[in-house]
Amino acid sequence: MSKTASDPEAMDPTALLVDLYRGQERLGPGGVEESRLALELSGILRATAQPLQVADIGCGTGASTLLLARLLNAQITAVDLMPPFLRELEQRAEARGLRERITTLCGSMDALEIEAGTLDLIWSEGALYSVGFSRAVAALRPCLRPGGVLVASELSWTTARRPPEIQEHWEREYPEVACTSSKLAVLEQNAFQPIATFLLPARCWLENYYRPLQAGFAAFLERHDHSEAARDIVAETEEEIRLYETYGDVFGYVMYIARAVEPTL
Ligand code: SAH
Repeated sequence: MSKTASDPEAMDPTALLVDLYRGQERLGPGGVEESRLALELSGILRATAQPLQVADIGCGTGASTLLLARLLNAQITAVDLMPPFLRELEQRAEARGLRERITTLCGSMDALEIEAGTLDLIWSEGALYSVGFSRAVAALRPCLRPGGVLVASELSWTTARRPPEIQEHWEREYPEVACTSSKLAVLEQNAFQPIATFLLPARCWLENYYRPLQAGFAAFLERHDHSEAARDIVAETEEEIRLYETYGDVFGYVMYIARAVEPTL
């Protein structure tokens, strides 16, 4: 029997999470203006005589994929582990007349079958943490052509010292959480030349991500008959939101923009 939203007992926690996020325009903090700024800083807009080869890693329902398809002369491979998100992205691309510029690929970012040295741009918003920033950067680096650019947002500390509650939370949830300077070192160690970094403003978390997600909580709980698992997910998300509202001045998503350079000895 297939697992559906009308058969809540059959849904595992991952399926429940997918059901919570389905229909959301973005599945993590971000914003159109911030993506545009990152694209500008990447310098990639100045090199578009040929269609660019682009991959959006952990694309979700396509927030950045659709924007890139609109702004760039590019062929975009949209990569995600979750087929329902990719189906939704395909529908949204179709509705916007962008379908032929986008190929979806279901797979894990640390085991992609993308030919080495072929990509001009790797984009990833709020997703590299899934396998860990270092592992993702190392796995993706060979796909870029020399001079190709990585644009990725990553959870980072934004101050040298943090209150214990938030320090402990993120060390437990994401042990690789670190300051911007440490993330830049990871990029440098993987033959990247940092071009720019900037911190996503609070609006990218609150207005663009958490508020629309919260607006769907009541319907989500209804769909799942207020099951314990569904209530747990809502409670965990509310707690995450509280932590951002309380401690958003010491952590955030930083956008990292870096160019692939020849490794030197
Ligand atoms: N970039 C999107 C989605 C961010 S949420 C946005 O900004 O809206 C993180 C996404 O990464 C989810 O869609 C999740 O399914 C995907 N993901 C998680 N682990 C992954 C992996 N190992 N490989 C590829 N995608 C993964």
